[in-house]
Amino acid sequence: MTRRNALLIEDEADILEVVTYNLRREGFTVLATRDGEAGLALARERNPDVVLLDLMLPGLDGLEVCRRLKADPVTRPIPVVMLTAKGEESDIVLGLGVGADDYVVKPFSPRELVARVTAVLRRGPLTDDLKTKERVTVGGLVVDSVRHEVLAAGKPVDLTATEFRLLHCLAAQRGRVFTRDQLLSRVIGQHSVVTDRNIDVHVRSIRKKLGPMADLVETVRGVGYRMGDASE
Ligand code: CA
Repeated sequence: MTRRNALLIEDEADILEVVTYNLRREGFTVLATRDGEAGLALARERNPDVVLLDLMLPGLDGLEVCRRLKADPVTRPIPVVMLTAKGEESDIVLGLGVGADDYVVKPFSPRELVARVTAVLRRGPLTDDLKTKERVTVGGLVVDSVRHEVLAAGKPVDLTATEFRLLHCLAAQRGRVFTRDQLLSRVIGQHSVVTDRNIDVHVRSIRKKLGPMADLVETVRGVGYRMGDASE
């Protein structure tokens, strides 16, 4: 297995040290900087496999660093895991909105962080092209977009077209947290005039129809929804 490279952008010395130590122990090569501008330059020059990005940075803050990483075609494919403080849910939503792949909330355990980073690397980049995910299985749930069919423990589930697209989007990238805005744009599209709340209504309806498998669609408080990652 090739050695993976992580770029850590974090201004707090103790967190920088702990994260570096734990990633190295997991076989990562770690580049670290306390500065957002320097982090951007390193990301471009060294093309790391993953960026771990503190949101509260002096100077160029983490959100702006993330926005620039995702705006640059060179760095766009690199997954970004945000390191956030408790109570920064609105920043998490903004960060996911500008393309961050996941986040951990401080104080996090090293184990949790490594699990997140590994999951992000396994999932690959966020995509709207779900053609390669025509049939997705999560636990006992099957979402088949060719047959337009959902099976829960072998039994067909009757979903509306919107509910189907929502469930397929979550299942195809399970473990990834989607904000309501992200789900709206993927599931409902640009044409209909709807409010944020509609996503919640659709999710409620999906859960009801999934019955005992309702828990697969997880609420991420203050942020959005995700499909539980059965392999974690
Ligand atoms: Ca900080």
